[in-house]
Amino acid sequence: MTALLRVEGLTAGYGGVPVLHDVDLAVPEGTICAVLGANGAGKTTLLRTLSGMVRPDRGRILLDGSDLRGLPVEQLIRRGLAHVPEGRGVIDELTVEENLWLGGLFRADRRALRGPLREAYELFPALYARRRHAGHQLSGGERQMLALARALVAKPRLMLLDEPSLGLAPLVVAQIMALLRRLRDDGGLTVLLVEQNVRSALSVADSAVVMAQGRVVAADSAGALVGDDALRHAYLGF
Ligand code: ATP
Repeated sequence: MTALLRVEGLTAGYGGVPVLHDVDLAVPEGTICAVLGANGAGKTTLLRTLSGMVRPDRGRILLDGSDLRGLPVEQLIRRGLAHVPEGRGVIDELTVEENLWLGGLFRADRRALRGPLREAYELFPALYARRRHAGHQLSGGERQMLALARALVAKPRLMLLDEPSLGLAPLVVAQIMALLRRLRDDGGLTVLLVEQNVRSALSVADSAVVMAQGRVVAADSAGALVGDDALRHAYLGF
């Protein structure tokens, strides 16, 4: 299987302080790859570097074979990259519908946004019911749904998803994981999923990488990682 996302020797950090060291990664199209590891392992920094928020010092970020480094954000979006950041990035003062429109800001065919918006509402009926409500009126679960829906409006091929389960009730987490499964299976979406909730992540992921101190210390199928007792005890805490 060819990889939609291929990361080679990625090294990056903040203000000259290195955080990521020589990270390699390959995610086949239409699969979910979980990025696991303790607090501070560098998972968020990896996503930020992939989406251009942190400039890499070395290495390559290939989407479908072409290098994304240095491209402006609208180019990244047009090439099919969507980043749903930690904290979700919902704008509190805007309504649900206005937040969704923002997801289509950089689409080449902005007039054709009605279709994606309708699809988003079909996927998230609760958001349709709340479409005139402001972001700050939503529950944590609804905010996460809105962040996902907004990313989907841009019709991404690769979604970078940072801690979608953070602060949510188990039932809502299960709904989000079921949705990711559906987007992968029915829509062919590729997902890089950062999660502290290891069990949830491995329940949906095809493959996983484990990070520690800015390095990838293990990469395998999700099933193989779950079956590796030493690795689970050392890095995954169960
Ligand atoms: P968490 O789950 O806690 O978010 P993480 O695995 O996502 O952890 P990062 O947030 O990527 O890890 O942090 C990796 C390292 O980079 C940490 O040592 C952190 O202190 C440092 N770091 C993160 N953001 C910044 C920043 N904006 N400026 C400087 N250092 C940072």
